[in-house]
Amino acid sequence: MAAMARLFRSSSSSAVSFLNRSLSTAAATELKSQSLPPRIDPKGRNVQWVFLGCPGVGKGTYASRLSTLLGVPHIATGDLVREELSSAGPLSKQLEEIVNQGKLVSDEIIINLLSKRLEVGESKGEAGFILDGFPRTVRQAEILTEVTDIDLVVNLKLPENVLLEKCLGRRICSQCGKNFNVACINVKGENGNPDISMAPLLPPPQCVSKLITRSDDTETIVKQRLRIYDEKSQPVEDFYRSQGKLLEFDLPGGIPESWPKLLEALNLDENEDKQSATA
Ligand code: AMP
Repeated sequence: MAAMARLFRSSSSSAVSFLNRSLSTAAATELKSQSLPPRIDPKGRNVQWVFLGCPGVGKGTYASRLSTLLGVPHIATGDLVREELSSAGPLSKQLEEIVNQGKLVSDEIIINLLSKRLEVGESKGEAGFILDGFPRTVRQAEILTEVTDIDLVVNLKLPENVLLEKCLGRRICSQCGKNFNVACINVKGENGNPDISMAPLLPPPQCVSKLITRSDDTETIVKQRLRIYDEKSQPVEDFYRSQGKLLEFDLPGGIPESWPKLLEALNLDENEDKQSATA
């Protein structure tokens, strides 16, 4: 396992604490447009990947599966925000207002939360990462570039009507934290695009009575989050596209159809990793 290198905080002129870390990269990727990423060496998989995509596209689902497969932490800044919200700490009131309006938290706050998470991970000897929900602004992407090398950026895509249905169907078990989806999606493809069907991802019996809905998964807030994605996060796609690091991936359906295709696009072989993948 590659050693997690130093992480330290420094201050910019505006007193923004941001992370500065240099990590050994498993596979510095010169990704030509839509070519396969280089095959990852099973013994040195401390990948540094970013997952981009609109709210509801499934970043968390696929990033989490890949993190198990590759043995690197899955770090979702949305989870860090929700943890801070539920902690009733000094920031929680302010965060609640921002999140419930579908807006983005300031770069300063999000980078502080991420720095803290990385420090905790470093103290546990974590190496590599799959970032989900970060960066969400070009400024965040620039800061990340200043402090570490990103090997690959995966941009997951689904049509907007599917995204809305998926967000409205999302449920979380308040006990085990797992994500489910009660939506049964059947959307006709437009402009020559294929139809999209997704079976619901139903919870096991022990979770059924503990399901909760995210407070920002209402129709009005999801629409606002999608609008903000277009405005603030779409340029992040361009940022990485211009660096040749962006892998575009149109999800063909639910997990059973998409997962094998995603592995193929990432040049990964699940069979090699069967034990960790099913853990
Ligand atoms: P998510 O779970 O990724 O949809 O994030 C939930 C909410 O947390 C977002 O709507 C934002 O308010 C906030 N958030 C998460 N990640 C970021 C980020 N990188 N920058 C700013 N706000 C974020």
